[in-house]
Amino acid sequence: MKAAAVEETDKATEITKNGKALITVTADARWSKRSYKNNYSSLAGSSSSMEQAAIVEGFKKSEEYNLIYSKLIADGDSSTYKNILESRPYPNIIVQKIECSNHLMRNFNGKNIMLCKDKSIPLNQQKLLNSERINRLRIAVRAAVRFRRAQNYLFTEKVKNLHKDIMNIPKHVFGDHSDCEDYYCSPEKKLEIDNVPNIRELMASLISNASALAYHAQSLIYKLNKNRAEQLNSVIAKYVGGKRINYALKNSYALRCYAAVVAFNTGTPIYTLYKTISKKSPSAAVKKLEDCKRKANNKRKLWKAKRRLNFVKENIDYGESCQKPDMTND
Ligand SMILES: [Zn+2]
Repeated sequence: MKAAAVEETDKATEITKNGKALITVTADARWSKRSYKNNYSSLAGSSSSMEQAAIVEGFKKSEEYNLIYSKLIADGDSSTYKNILESRPYPNIIVQKIECSNHLMRNFNGKNIMLCKDKSIPLNQQKLLNSERINRLRIAVRAAVRFRRAQNYLFTEKVKNLHKDIMNIPKHVFGDHSDCEDYYCSPEKKLEIDNVPNIRELMASLISNASALAYHAQSLIYKLNKNRAEQLNSVIAKYVGGKRINYALKNSYALRCYAAVVAFNTGTPIYTLYKTISKKSPSAAVKKLEDCKRKANNKRKLWKAKRRLNFVKENIDYGESCQKPDMTND
């Protein structure tokens, strides 16, 4: 932890007057929770309250390592942030909450998809909200974030402009380009049919979704996500055996978490463990084993990506088009 703190201090861009580094953290606490028939739980109190207590404790202890966790990446769960604010970990600094960009985008897209089943919107309007337009809504937000982030303006100015862009996206996608800016609206788009006057109910819902997203324009400009925390959690899940076997008793859970952290940070857990304990490198066989594992992992990732590409690409040798003969009708 000390070494990690020094590394963070070196990399931090903001330092307080008394030499403490202001850093951004994600808090995605997990607690070993398992239940049997009699609802046994390895802790007293609910698992979420234990998570929160652990996170608050972490904030309070950060100054021991010369760190101040000034920004927290959250994913819509406001109780963690509320608890941190109430515990006032730092006398002069208020911890700022930043919503995870991935979660914001997923929520926005999910809400737009739900509108296709919303009974309060007339059917003819729902038909206009096809998958192409749903995708355009999402892509337009991403493009606006990218454009505004790259601009050389004050942060507050970027947030304000992004807010305006997001609020205009539904109109732009449905053909009303009266308030569009040139950077995302090409002249040929302006020739589209304007559907906006005919979709009053749908538009109201889309604007409400856009406004919920635009409210977090500041978080979108920060463009932070919780991916690393989620990846670590999946590694921990592997080491603690998911919920299949009860490893939660005594110190086993903590030990398994430490092992997961080593595996996550180094990628070579057996090698690192052996070297730390015996101060010697392990035999070549161990290195070979972990090399093989890593290569296999990389291979699997590549293969997956490739397979997904094949789905998207229409291959002329497969599918409907290949069954049609090249001959003319006569
Ligand atoms: Zn437009």
